[in-house]
Amino acid sequence: MIKAGTILEAARELNIKAAIEIPKDVQRKVEQMAAGETNHLSRYVLEKILQNYEAAIKDRSPMCADTGLPRYYAKIGNDAVIEGGMVNLERVLRQATADTTTSIPLRPNRVHPFSRKDHNNNVGIHAPTVDYTFEPDADWMDMTVVHKGGLFGGEYRMLFPADGIPGLKRFFLDSLAEFLRRGMACQPAVIGVGVGGTKDVCVRLSKEAACLRIVGDRNPDPDIAKLEEELIELGNNAGFGPMGFPGDASVLDVHIEAAYAHTGGMPVGIQQFCYAQRRKTARIFSDNRVEFREDPQWFTPYYRRDTID
Ligand code: SF4
Repeated sequence: MIKAGTILEAARELNIKAAIEIPKDVQRKVEQMAAGETNHLSRYVLEKILQNYEAAIKDRSPMCADTGLPRYYAKIGNDAVIEGGMVNLERVLRQATADTTTSIPLRPNRVHPFSRKDHNNNVGIHAPTVDYTFEPDADWMDMTVVHKGGLFGGEYRMLFPADGIPGLKRFFLDSLAEFLRRGMACQPAVIGVGVGGTKDVCVRLSKEAACLRIVGDRNPDPDIAKLEEELIELGNNAGFGPMGFPGDASVLDVHIEAAYAHTGGMPVGIQQFCYAQRRKTARIFSDNRVEFREDPQWFTPYYRRDTID
């Protein structure tokens, strides 16, 4: 059985690591971009971003003063048994969020939308969110913590089958122009694109694509992988650099996820996850061992299944 105390400790540690330690895949990509950037202002910005990553780890403080909105992604094995069940799991994750808001500290960003009441612990109605998926033939649980900003970088458009790939590229470029030229999503960023499903599903998939796949990962569908490469090239040849400056590149990666849609439509969601990529994953085994890693491994073949079985 996975004990509640193990989950609590792991979730606290995940919040600390996510807030402070930049994932290596992101750091390597920003280093590459800095080395190849020809605009001196943009190169300066990228070098400062790299110094900021190092300072956060050295000082054990969050890599951005805006620590975003903490959220959890739980992948639960079909044979996993959690002490106290799923309700207890959610209580424990709320406790870990409140604890680490004080201990790291995280900025208490969550407020009631009308009264602006703030519990000062990032906990409230639908806060933090927990998203679930399941995995066959497993008795472990993967827990991923993401701290993502919640104000800018998200877009939705209902496209139609006749819009096709050109329409998708147009929307992609429109959304980059909307946010990048004003530096509103703190580029360079990973762009997640969710295509298909319904409005809520494509937006959810775009966020998961931005936050839960590592830089360099390609979709296993070769046609989608090719489109990812094309959008990276398109985005990085649009004249945008980091933080709204002109430059050679502003896209760390593009990740596309697909869901079966209504035959008459092609809804698309786009989300940007800024260079301050706060994500960390732990696998909690049934014997209560905990292994931390950087790749969330959220998009498994089971999660992307397209048949009954
Ligand atoms: S977009 Fe990212 S880097 Fe910019 S303020 Fe928000 S969390 Fe910080």
